[in-house]
Amino acid sequence: MQAQDLLLFQAALGLSAPWQVTSVEFDRDARRLDLRVDFLKGATFSCPECGVSGLKAYDTSEKCWRHMDFWQHQTYLTARVPRVRCAEHGVRQVALPWARPQSGFTLLFEALIMAMVAEMPVATLAALVGEHDTRVWRVVHHYVDVAVDSQDLAGLERVGVDETSSRRGHDYVTVFADLDQRRGVFVVEGKDHETVQAFSLFLQTHGGDVGQVSEVCQDMSEAFLKGTRENLPEAQITFDRYHVRSHLSKAVDEVRRQESKHHKDLLRNTRYMWLKRPANLTDRQRDLLDELLAQPLETVRAYTLAQQFDSFYEIADPDTAQEYLRRWIIEVDASGLEPGKRFARMLEDHWDGVIRWHHSQISNGLLEGLNSLIQAAKRRARGYRSNRNFITMIYLIAGKLNAGPVIA
Ligand SMILES: [Zn+2]
Repeated sequence: MQAQDLLLFQAALGLSAPWQVTSVEFDRDARRLDLRVDFLKGATFSCPECGVSGLKAYDTSEKCWRHMDFWQHQTYLTARVPRVRCAEHGVRQVALPWARPQSGFTLLFEALIMAMVAEMPVATLAALVGEHDTRVWRVVHHYVDVAVDSQDLAGLERVGVDETSSRRGHDYVTVFADLDQRRGVFVVEGKDHETVQAFSLFLQTHGGDVGQVSEVCQDMSEAFLKGTRENLPEAQITFDRYHVRSHLSKAVDEVRRQESKHHKDLLRNTRYMWLKRPANLTDRQRDLLDELLAQPLETVRAYTLAQQFDSFYEIADPDTAQEYLRRWIIEVDASGLEPGKRFARMLEDHWDGVIRWHHSQISNGLLEGLNSLIQAAKRRARGYRSNRNFITMIYLIAGKLNAGPVIA
């Protein structure tokens, strides 16, 4: 190959002195391109630890990196990597401009991986670039870890917390979101009170201030309550309105299930009609619903009460809303519908956090949205081998992180 062509590859790789491309070998059958890179004779290097310069190569060892394909040819870069002897730090391998230490990929190849991993499952990506997926995961973990760890959480005041299921069964991770920046900032295994403790520690080691967290939105679980009270002592708790509503929907469904034992024909195949918002029903479902609403059914009474509950969130004045909810509970108790009464007791036991919505106006709608993206990614990936992989993927989806190598 001509010297001219070597210079061309050198430019394509972005190499500068003392590094140069010394040979290019092209294997048509193997569809492989091998670039050999070497440093100029007499070149000096810096200690990677302290930066002291002017150190000659102490010894060298040959290493190889996967680079971005040139067209459809897998491309590899091979170089003698020098070690230097620093008076203070001893014998150390020098920093290389094209790869980070311990990686078998060049920075550009890693940048390609990080750009693609947002778009497809790691297994698909690994197959596409012809690498084993554990090697690809190692790269993804590295850059996500760096990005997660370099977050600055100063000024974090309003937090949303929710769990998401990681595998079939009872395995969960908990996601903490900054409701103002609208992104996930911390993800941890489990869904118990210790997840909040882990979050508060993370917050403190990343520029945040536990005492500054003034609002937390969460479900009514004892675990999150205990965690928040113990670890975010200044926070006012708002119970997420969608979680509250889902308890009420379950109560309506329970009434329907009980009643359908005696009214099989009337209530057959109507389950989702009672649970969906009227606006989301098809015309046919709406007609059927209107017919049913004229029947003397307990399900109708439960459904009507549930619709009336929703107005609590529509009332602008907090005191009026609170009074409205009190009256609503009296009606529920008068209805004699046991599942409804149980829901009313739950409201009373969690009163302040339910009412708090009228002051904070925060919900976990953001986390609900992120959760459907997370579960969709999980389905595409057909699950994750480990919670570590799952958590890394959540950070990529929810974190708005700039995860990837910095290419000079
Ligand atoms: Zn040194």
